[in-house]
Amino acid sequence: MRRQRNVKIVATLGPASSDYEMIRALFEAGADVFRLNMSHGSHEEIRSRHAIIRQIEEDTGRPIGILADLQGPKLRVGRFARGEEELEEGQRFRLDLEDAPGDSRRVQLPHPEIFAALEPGATLLVNDGKIRLRVEECGPEHAECIVVVGGTISDRKGVNVPDVVLPLAALSEKDRADLEFVCELGVDWLALSFVQRPEDVIEAKALARGRAAVMAKIEKPAAVRAFSDILAVADGIMIARGDLGVELPVQNVPPIQKRLVRATRAAAKPVIVATQMLESMIESPVPTRAEVSDVATAIYEGADAVMLSAESAAGAYPVEAVRTMHNVALEVESDPTYREVIEASRRAQRESVADAIVSAAREIAETTDVKAICCFTESGTTAALVARERPRVPIIAMTSRRAVARRLTLTWAIYCVMSEELGRFKQAVVRAVRAATGEGFAEPTDQIVVTAGVPFNQPGTTNIVRVAPCDERLIYRAEPE
Ligand code: PGA
Ligand code: MN
Repeated sequence: MRRQRNVKIVATLGPASSDYEMIRALFEAGADVFRLNMSHGSHEEIRSRHAIIRQIEEDTGRPIGILADLQGPKLRVGRFARGEEELEEGQRFRLDLEDAPGDSRRVQLPHPEIFAALEPGATLLVNDGKIRLRVEECGPEHAECIVVVGGTISDRKGVNVPDVVLPLAALSEKDRADLEFVCELGVDWLALSFVQRPEDVIEAKALARGRAAVMAKIEKPAAVRAFSDILAVADGIMIARGDLGVELPVQNVPPIQKRLVRATRAAAKPVIVATQMLESMIESPVPTRAEVSDVATAIYEGADAVMLSAESAAGAYPVEAVRTMHNVALEVESDPTYREVIEASRRAQRESVADAIVSAAREIAETTDVKAICCFTESGTTAALVARERPRVPIIAMTSRRAVARRLTLTWAIYCVMSEELGRFKQAVVRAVRAATGEGFAEPTDQIVVTAGVPFNQPGTTNIVRVAPCDERLIYRAEPE
């Protein structure tokens, strides 16, 4: 099942996409990774969707990535006596720790840590930023606010505190329980919401104990400021534009997206552009022109993956949304301008033998007629380095580890083929050629580039680049041991 495209598609599962037929249809339409959102859905629902994905993997013989997205320290107000209240601009409104139902003058904010960190002048945003409050006066158990922008406030609405680095643990009790639950089920990626500092990622990695890779969602100004330190410890990045556009002025989001995509790609880690990409398709079978342009922009920028949230989880047209992303990708990636942009934004710095090898592989693919770059990768690192080069030809990653194949479903262009552990380079070349011809990337008269590390099975040894004929008889004749 070759996709004929480089960028990957992440589709969030939810009530609109929870049975075998629908998830299989999403996979066939182009979804490479499925996202399980731990903010919604019971453990039983998550378990069932997980089992369906693994069944589809077995039925199609292709690795499929599963990304579990942890809710993180999401702040919420308490409940209201009447369910909701209208806040008027200029009025006072008080947040406190009292359990009593709220009214038009106060409501509970059950987070003492927030009151400890607030200062007069700080902004609080409620209900996706629709309501804006400014703190006038505060103490350890309350904050007296002025309503700067009014609106309807209702039970359990989310609260964002953009200006303050909150003394909150990266993982709530619920997150810890969810993390353990999904790691036991077997997911490939964990996404951490509302990351503020590199330590948050380090903590999650310690809890995951290698069972899943950890992706940091960048959705707070503090995370944008600490980005390079967060990138250094995370395995991947999600540009979570929903909350980011609440915590920062929306016009700040596009330049941040551009900068973060480039920096993450330069670090050879996968980066997802997420949220509202095809928002109108929640209700409409066709996207707006602006949405199509947004998806295209992320692809031109060189993002590893684009993501669907409610479009595939709760919308009326999940399959159409995946198909739309797929079609946009085909069009963008065949545009000569796409190559120009991708090449102009390639990082030039080379620091290791592996960097030099993958860059040589890409140059060979550019100057000669080879059909694919085939890399042997045990940890996935070499495959990520090849992908960072954004070569013109397909990338086949050969690995003996299923977990690695599944993680790499998120990485730009990587097509994984399972292979047994190998001992000799000649054997590897034969395997590579068989994969390339067997999966439809090359004909016996073609050539491919093979990269590997010898001796085998030692991570970080990538040191060979070889142009190989796809005719096995020629390999047996010509190949050194
Ligand atoms: P969410 O994260 O969908 O979990 O809120 C994505 C975002 O904020 O953009
Ligand atoms: Mn978010």
